[in-house]
Amino acid sequence: MHTQFRFSLPLLTLVALSLSFLLSCAFTDDQPEVRLSVETAPPVTAVSDVAPAVAALDYGAAIPAAYTAPPSSEPTTKMADAATILARRQVPILCYHQVRDWREKDSKSAKDYIVPVERFREQMQMLADSGYQTVLPEQLLAYLTTGAPLPKKPVMLTFDDTNLDQYTVAAPELETHGFKGVFFVMTVSLGRPNYMSKAQVKELSDRGHAIGSHTWDHHNVKKYQGQDWVKQIEKPSKQLEAIIGEPVEFFAYPFGLWNPEAIPELKQRGITAAFQLAAQPHPQDPLHSIRRIIASGYWSPQSLNKAMRNSF
Ligand SMILES: [Zn+2]
Repeated sequence: MHTQFRFSLPLLTLVALSLSFLLSCAFTDDQPEVRLSVETAPPVTAVSDVAPAVAALDYGAAIPAAYTAPPSSEPTTKMADAATILARRQVPILCYHQVRDWREKDSKSAKDYIVPVERFREQMQMLADSGYQTVLPEQLLAYLTTGAPLPKKPVMLTFDDTNLDQYTVAAPELETHGFKGVFFVMTVSLGRPNYMSKAQVKELSDRGHAIGSHTWDHHNVKKYQGQDWVKQIEKPSKQLEAIIGEPVEFFAYPFGLWNPEAIPELKQRGITAAFQLAAQPHPQDPLHSIRRIIASGYWSPQSLNKAMRNSF
């Protein structure tokens, strides 16, 4: 006497489908973040810490995969309103200036804006080891306005002020990890000693990095009147467009300073997204007040990782 197991075809199909689903979950999600947890993260001290010896990949908690809007709830043809944009999970955006070793005459406060070469390498290595992937402003804009999906752990790396070491040191380092940067150029410095040339800006653009405007000569946007808008916004965008052969639609406020009056002036001149520093975004126009944090020269990779998770 033996027992007979009788399975119907629909039931077998269901079992097979469930198994294949479980297997695909197990084998396609191999991001490093799954190996990390809050409990195992090293304590992170103030910004003045030196790089402690910790195991690679040990950089902190997982970030929830919240950069993909459910397609059913939000058709990608619809442009999101300000409230929807503000409700989205923020993408960490880092702001760099100089990437070079500290000199004796560098002041204590200047060192926030000067990231030593080896430290910059460690910071980029941390991002790569943690599974971060860089995104460019166009991708960010598509995500914010239509819910278009981003990589699981997106980060944007921005570089202000046209410093030459962004071309000689930062860009090659980014490229070793497959990263892309966003370079906000102030056009008055082009070709000056220790600043990038037009050809170098063009080359960065040709290598897939994004080029944005950072005014003509770095004056505070809050003080512009009349022709200042032409001199500081209109002409620099046109000059950069002529250099790279592409539209220039992204802008970074000098010193991160902006006011609501500036936004219509920027929009009139073709700027579709503007980047500030860490102030609150404008409630009606978040795309022209996108937040960034300055990645300090004092920060170990662990400090940077913590700042990214706390600030965005
Ligand atoms: Zn600047």
